[in-house]
Amino acid sequence: METWMRTAKGENSVSDEESDNEVLVEEEDIKKGKEACAKSLIGRVFADKKFSVGTMENAFRTIWGRPEGFRISDRGGNKFQFFFDNDKDLMRIEKCSPWLFKDYVLHVRRWNDSDRREESEMQGFPVWAQFWGLPECYKTVEVGRKLAEKIGAVIEIGFYEMKGGDSRIIKARVEIDASKKFKYHLCMIGPDQQAVEIGVGYEKIGRFCTYCARIGHEPKECELLLTDSTMNSVRQDKIGDGIKANQMGRRIEVECNGYNVPGSNLNDQGEKPKKKSMPSWLLNSLSGLSMKETVGDKMAPEVTSSHSKSNSLMENRERIW
Ligand SMILES: [Zn+2]
Repeated sequence: METWMRTAKGENSVSDEESDNEVLVEEEDIKKGKEACAKSLIGRVFADKKFSVGTMENAFRTIWGRPEGFRISDRGGNKFQFFFDNDKDLMRIEKCSPWLFKDYVLHVRRWNDSDRREESEMQGFPVWAQFWGLPECYKTVEVGRKLAEKIGAVIEIGFYEMKGGDSRIIKARVEIDASKKFKYHLCMIGPDQQAVEIGVGYEKIGRFCTYCARIGHEPKECELLLTDSTMNSVRQDKIGDGIKANQMGRRIEVECNGYNVPGSNLNDQGEKPKKKSMPSWLLNSLSGLSMKETVGDKMAPEVTSSHSKSNSLMENRERIW
């Protein structure tokens, strides 16, 4: 394998036979290939079960509304490359990621030059985490950020009001490393040195194993549980299904990339937002949401995007879970 990755220069130890087999390819030779890849997404299904390229192509051609020029290439290890003719198809699909397919997470992102190498990894995906059990005076962006940093790379923090407005929770959108165990509780130590246990719930993570705290399978399919069973050392399952949180609450405040936007209502699940002037970057985000909803309405019940906002789609999700 090393031979394949070798650069053309500075390899004096190459045998004559190997040298005779070498084919030098210039950037110009792959110009068209790179142009095609520039209109592609790299995606991974976070499932222990293997999906074939045929299954993926048939399913997502329909789910994504028959995009022009759509084709898929298998990159191995449940990773796929999705090609499109039109940038707008690629953009709307990327914006809706991660998707849930047969209750497994599919995360897609735009191809970049580092994806030329087969070993490029896609370890995680963005997810909304909810924090439960916070005393009222601890419900601040700063506390939310400190909690969120414990579970992944923080993208944004938001405050959510429950129906009736009598309670609010903090949510954080974080890039989670799916190869690690999901944290289901945190221990917050306050300035008075009092410890408070904070429950963590994750939205739209699909199949989750409450025994080994990983996604992609259920406890009945868990290899660790099987191993522990054969050794008579099964641990008590302490996590419970609460870690798979329903998407809930009306967003009332968000901190994203340094901006504080009270009442922005991104990811709204409750009342309709009141009309008010908004900054252009936020309007752009919302224009993306309307596209997602259009896509969502056409989706098969077994497939959702974690960003879709319509209530009817929400009901579909509830049925899946
Ligand atoms: Zn497991």
